Amino acid sequence: MTGMREDMSTKKIVQAKQTRSTDLTPLQKTYIPEIVKGLAVTIKSLFAPKFTRQYPEERMNPQASFRGRPVLVEEDGVERCVACGLCARVCPALAIEVQASETELEKERYPVKFEINMLRCIFCGFCEEACPEEAIVMSDEYELVFRKPENAIYGKDRLLMSTDRLKPRLEFLRKAR
Ligand code: SF4
Ligand code: SF4
Repeated sequence: MTGMREDMSTKKIVQAKQTRSTDLTPLQKTYIPEIVKGLAVTIKSLFAPKFTRQYPEERMNPQASFRGRPVLVEEDGVERCVACGLCARVCPALAIEVQASETELEKERYPVKFEINMLRCIFCGFCEEACPEEAIVMSDEYELVFRKPENAIYGKDRLLMSTDRLKPRLEFLRKAR
């Protein structure tokens, strides 16, 4: 049985070798045509238009569909967030911390503390999808630089963004829903 298997595998190797030797012409065996073809592609690319962006001098202006860092929507100087905690609940990276407090209005709440740990955030946009108030959205900001880990925890002071600034994203969301 073992001898039969060895015979079959030897036969396969011989067949493979035979196919390869008959497929290639003597010129092809030198690989010169393929090398020339490869060089032609390289030379063509040298003169093709370049798409490299000279960042940071040339900044990218993202489309409304772009998912940059999540921010809290501020309308007429007031945050839309009602501190329901849904965004924190759905966040797969456990990046959001919300602490609710009562307002002067009956049955109204606001986030006395709202923090996003930007080292944890994976820009998935689940918080935006879950929010019933359209109070947290993905902005067009993509530049995040921290010198210390604690600087990556964004509080309301850095999260609140006006509806004017977020207009393209808010319009995009309304059309998409
Ligand atoms: S974008 Fe995703 S990871 Fe980032 S805070 Fe929202 S739900 Fe969490
Ligand atoms: S941002 Fe939206 S989902 Fe998150 S706590 Fe505020 S209202 Fe609720």
